[in-house]
Amino acid sequence: VDDSEAAGSRTVPGACFSRIRTLQPLLRPTFVAVSASALALLGLSGREVLSAPLGPDYLSGSRLLPGSEPAAHCYSGHQFGLFAGQLGDGAALYLGEVEGPGGQGRWEIQVKGAGVTPYSRDGDGRKVLRSSIREFLCSEAMAALGIPSTRAAALVTSDLYVTRDPLNNGRRVRERCSTVLRVAPSFIRFGSFEIFLGRDEFSGLQGPSAGRHDVRAQLLDYVIESFYPSIQRRHSNRKERNTAFFREVAMRTAKLVAQWQSVGFCHGVLNTDNMSILGLTLDYGPFGFMDRFDPDFVCNASDRRGRYSYRAQPSVCRWNLARLAEALGSELHGAEAGAVLDDFMPAYEAFYLGNMRRKLGLLRREEAEDGELVSDLLRLMHNTGADFTNTFRLLSRVPWPAEGDRERSAVGAVVDAILDQCADIEELKVDNKPTMEDELAMILSMAQTNPVMFGMVADRPEVSQQLERMGRLKELLATDQAELREKQRDDWIHWVGRYRSARLARECDGASDPCAVREARLSAMNSTNPRVVLRNYIAQNAIQAAERGDFSEVSRHFKVPKTANIQYRPKVWTHLLIQCVFFIFMTIY
Ligand code: AMP
Ligand code: MG
Ligand code: MG
Repeated sequence: VDDSEAAGSRTVPGACFSRIRTLQPLLRPTFVAVSASALALLGLSGREVLSAPLGPDYLSGSRLLPGSEPAAHCYSGHQFGLFAGQLGDGAALYLGEVEGPGGQGRWEIQVKGAGVTPYSRDGDGRKVLRSSIREFLCSEAMAALGIPSTRAAALVTSDLYVTRDPLNNGRRVRERCSTVLRVAPSFIRFGSFEIFLGRDEFSGLQGPSAGRHDVRAQLLDYVIESFYPSIQRRHSNRKERNTAFFREVAMRTAKLVAQWQSVGFCHGVLNTDNMSILGLTLDYGPFGFMDRFDPDFVCNASDRRGRYSYRAQPSVCRWNLARLAEALGSELHGAEAGAVLDDFMPAYEAFYLGNMRRKLGLLRREEAEDGELVSDLLRLMHNTGADFTNTFRLLSRVPWPAEGDRERSAVGAVVDAILDQCADIEELKVDNKPTMEDELAMILSMAQTNPVMFGMVADRPEVSQQLERMGRLKELLATDQAELREKQRDDWIHWVGRYRSARLARECDGASDPCAVREARLSAMNSTNPRVVLRNYIAQNAIQAAERGDFSEVSRHFKVPKTANIQYRPKVWTHLLIQCVFFIFMTIY
């Protein structure tokens, strides 16, 4: 569908994509940061992009790359459990496809925050610095952790403003329009298939060209042929091919959510329109990495019922896959699609347990009790307010099983370190809690489980006075902190004892070189357990600095890969243009 008239909020019939004829340039676009490793996928170098005078114009969708045919994708989806009808790219603009260097495939590029499209509904199609920094940093952080994700190549801000209500308290403020250049093999989502539900115009069942206009079939063919070529090759029967595809999407999704769970990542808005058909982490909104371990962690303030809590993510992904199966309808064998869904949770559990074994350095054996060892660890972390990321890093210091007092005191040191570290202190320094009451409730719950937090509350008269006013201080002071600490210490010593003297000891059973087993454990733990994750306060500090005009904090938080990885191309724009392959629209009339 051509959209040469003014874009706006409307139903776009019979189309999966709308071409966008008029760009909506930013005012004085400037780079906030670029990701050299994401740009390298496109054959671009960070240095050159940064020094190109029109770099920010091109990479923010303010100026048209020759050969590019901008478009917005029409998709649908279930939001918070309810079918939402037509959604679509309300704030994202496809620029086209770029052939990457070295025959490594084609990349779709799109600008998030490029202005209104036919799918913008009530929105202005813009994104602000806050949300763009979060998407940019987290996309690249996930990629650095080896978790499948769409990528973010460039972050641009500008002197164009929109008004927003950042604290949701009715106070609107002017914020700078900013964009993220996103890169992925494809941004097709589960919701891309849900658009066909109840929309007869797609099925083309009438008239002489019956069947030819079945857009759902075309989109499915496109996705399988382009992104699942081995499945395409293996099956001559269409329904069997489609079902194999559905199984593969389910397995990728199970693997992805198992990776999220293993690093304490909460997506926050797992609507079906935010589920990638390629099993990538897609659409970074109110996501959060857990600090203290809490299975009921909810990072989305508007998710009052905790539909998208940390613990709910695996089952929500399965629910979303069931919606995808419905949307694919007669393209799948019903019974076999049901079997795929039945296999989802066991597959997830297996991926998850595999990840957790690596996180604990258990590489040589799979024991029936491993699941219990992990769940007991998590319960202990929860009960003692332990930091999820740091605890796994600290566990690599648990000494290898051997007798002797030196080892015993080393175990004690690990346990004390686990109980002492408390990342929430940093989090609380950041003034980003919606209300003082929310913050106090959080402080109260932390102080009740964690003596370190208790000490912090005692040090903050404004907090203790407020708690007293709420009548909650007594309750807090009633706990005997020394006793609590002793009990928590005992519980940890007990768990570490099980892990070390029993489970780690058995890792060496039958090994010809126990030293190698020990080394392998350390390197597995250090390469699996992240040293840093994008905690909320880290993103928040980068945002606050950037809003003051200091962009250095944004770049500081993600590692620019060694320049050796970057291909230097003197005529970078020519290169990009030559390589720019026109986006193939799925809407063919
Ligand atoms: P999200 O919550 O980011 O997954 O977006 C849900 C829907 O809202 C999608 O259809 C988005 O394209 C649309 N949307 C998000 N932000 C904006 C915006 N600023 N203007 C218009 N539409 C938007
Ligand atoms: Mg979305
Ligand atoms: Mg969003």
